[in-house]
Amino acid sequence: MAFRDDKKTLSSVKSVAVVGGGVSGLAAAYKLKSQGVRVTLFEADERAGGKLRSVSRDGLIWDEGANTMMSCTFPEVWKLEKEFGSIILGAIRSKFSQRKDDNKERKNSSGERKKRGSFSFYGGMQTLTDGLCNELGDDLKLNSKVLSLSYNHDRNTLLDNWSVSYATNHKEYSPKPSFDAVIMTAPLCNVKEMKIKKMGLPFDLGFLPEVNYVPLSVIITTFKKENVKRPLAGFGVLVPSKEQQNSLKTLGTLFSSTMFPERAPSDVYLYTTFVGGSRDRNLAKASVDELKQVVTSDLRKLLGAEGEPALFKYRPCCFYWSKAFPLYGRNYNSVLEAINEMEGSLPGFFYAGNHRGGLSVGKAIASGCKAADLVLSYLNSSQLCSDLVD
Ligand code: FAD
Repeated sequence: MAFRDDKKTLSSVKSVAVVGGGVSGLAAAYKLKSQGVRVTLFEADERAGGKLRSVSRDGLIWDEGANTMMSCTFPEVWKLEKEFGSIILGAIRSKFSQRKDDNKERKNSSGERKKRGSFSFYGGMQTLTDGLCNELGDDLKLNSKVLSLSYNHDRNTLLDNWSVSYATNHKEYSPKPSFDAVIMTAPLCNVKEMKIKKMGLPFDLGFLPEVNYVPLSVIITTFKKENVKRPLAGFGVLVPSKEQQNSLKTLGTLFSSTMFPERAPSDVYLYTTFVGGSRDRNLAKASVDELKQVVTSDLRKLLGAEGEPALFKYRPCCFYWSKAFPLYGRNYNSVLEAINEMEGSLPGFFYAGNHRGGLSVGKAIASGCKAADLVLSYLNSSQLCSDLVD
């Protein structure tokens, strides 16, 4: 999709650095670019998408991070159709896994019909972030871990500028020219490791609180349908903590091929099981063999699954997230206060992502879009000031 020229505004000559290529950073960068702003998105990893991570192999498709988006908890998704146009529309037709009592189309305030429930994309959730990456093209820099940021203010032009240094394959770079604003979407634990300077002096990030993160392993298994003696109705099972104290050790299992039948051959059940979390942090980082035993044992008890899960015959399909979610606990207010303090002290610095406003994919996108809107207002107002000086 080409970006439209008629979006050119005062901010079209401005440039913005976005740090972090999860869904929030990609959404922010995409929105800015579509408004004519020059963006550079720095992603530390060799791939973008962050916690959206889909795998397609051996006729199966599965997600190792987020599995679905909720449209009812996230009514803004309908606004996204306007924001993201063909990217989301093409892919969204995938699936709506609706609860029975929710199985109706509803009308929104403008009378348009909308579906409720949770949904994903053909090819898994990463289809969404891959689509955004394609739109960003060379503006997305992978393998680019941001190490430091430096803010300066030109007293003559009244313009603010930010320089960014990042590491690629152990080499450090500082792109020129510098940026007019920064949107930070890296988790706070990563921000704490960065060096920030303000007008040449170190800006101490000591006020950032320690965030408690939940570790999680995601284990993918398949069983021949004929070997599952008690296939349950619905889209998955959650294991209550009481059951965990007894004999079940997993947190829950999604019936992925029941939700999305095209993701596995018709004679196979595809399951996505979560292990660890705050209930059992050590189990989250157990060996693949131990995780395999735990999951197989629970699926036997819950579903009457017999024999060995098929995927394990070839390669273990496990993904370990050492910091899956920030734990929104008692110190959450201090997290929000620290983010506000960073933004208040550093002109042109904006923070977005799942540490602010909600953990879900939808909330992370909304947070990225909101930061992009704030940056657009900021750029337009700072341009106005410098025009007045001229
Ligand atoms: P992230 O995805 O964490 O992205 C941050 C990015 O910043 C990463 O790519 C990281 O590499 C990069 N970065 C870090 N440091 C630097 C640096 N120094 N320089 C450059 N880049 C850096 N949500 C739902 O709505 N539905 C679900 O079903 C669901 N299931 C989930 C299952 C799992 C296993 C997990 C882990 C999460 C799930 N979530 C779900 C939550 C949701 O996926 C996340 O909250 C959301 O994707 C976070 O997006 P984000 O952009 O804020 O952060």
